[in-house]
Amino acid sequence: MSVRVIDEHDVRRLLPMTECIDVMAEALASLARGEVHNPLRFVIRPPGEQSLLGLMPAHRGGPAPLYGLKTVAIFPGNSARGLDSHQGFVALFDGETGETRAILNAGAITAVRTAAVSGVATRLLARDGASTLAILGAGIQARSHLEAMRAVHDFERVVVWSRTPGRLPELEEAATAQEAVRDADVIVTATSAVEPIIDRGWLKPGVHINAVGSSIPTTRELDTATVRDAALFVDRRESTINEAGDFLFPQREGAIGPEHIRAEIGELLIGAAEGRRSADEITVFKSLGLAVQDLAAAEHVLRRAEAEDAGSVVSL
Ligand code: NDP
Repeated sequence: MSVRVIDEHDVRRLLPMTECIDVMAEALASLARGEVHNPLRFVIRPPGEQSLLGLMPAHRGGPAPLYGLKTVAIFPGNSARGLDSHQGFVALFDGETGETRAILNAGAITAVRTAAVSGVATRLLARDGASTLAILGAGIQARSHLEAMRAVHDFERVVVWSRTPGRLPELEEAATAQEAVRDADVIVTATSAVEPIIDRGWLKPGVHINAVGSSIPTTRELDTATVRDAALFVDRRESTINEAGDFLFPQREGAIGPEHIRAEIGELLIGAAEGRRSADEITVFKSLGLAVQDLAAAEHVLRRAEAEDAGSVVSL
């Protein structure tokens, strides 16, 4: 059996942000139409361990069916070692024979597809005339989101806040998270914070927030009042009510229930749900990350790699 192995460099080259934004829009629309199967991910976190290993399987039917599986080891301390916090690979399996068709670098796919999904959400939900972008965090996702946000909207001003100053020196830097977000029309939270870094009292009416950094039940970036007062949009309801600390903390405090989720982004894309209702409404897109996004991004890279014979074909 021949397997195409595609490294970080080729994933980045073959998955430009603007293309990935379109691929993610189609993947989320397919999810909303019920064309893909995406069970909840399986996560192991040994007691006392800060790292975790996640398994994210998905299946897409249709004429050329595919299984995808992202195996991702998350090591939050890795940036101090100069390494990506997200290690691992995405494997694609032929949906007719089960043969392994490709193995791709997971860190690069995760960096691009996550920001591309926020790009889709921002295009749908940011209010007209949004001119200031604030990014909280300065790691891999922060950089990737800067590219995605600029791909979907012309911002006059971009402000970054980072716990460690000076990580994105090309941008205007705020001394505090509050200072960064107070004039913002669009906010990206892309940190590994475990407690809220956003306070409802700091926000302008009409702001759109992409809450990206927390993808487990035990951490969050948004305070309860922000989530309660916002129209809440998600990548997937089932994942949100099982996995999202940004949803589960306010729910445990009695502030919201599952009915607080207005829509999945895919439902907006296929016209099955309503987005922003007024220029003053606060909108939140809670991003968790889905296996169907990895599958779609990996398939796109594989098609392009096959067309130009990129990567290495090895026998397995
Ligand atoms: P990086 O390690 O590259 O960056 C992490 C950033 O978070 C750094 O700016 C770091 O600051 C900051 N940070 C860490 N702890 C805190 C804290 N307590 N308060 C404020 N800032 C903090 O990680 P990534 O950019 O790859 O990922 C960022 C987050 O996004 C992670 O939590 C990750 O799990 C999540 N993620 C979510 C995905 C999704 O689909 N929703 C997909 C991929 C990642 P400093 O430089 O000071 O350490």
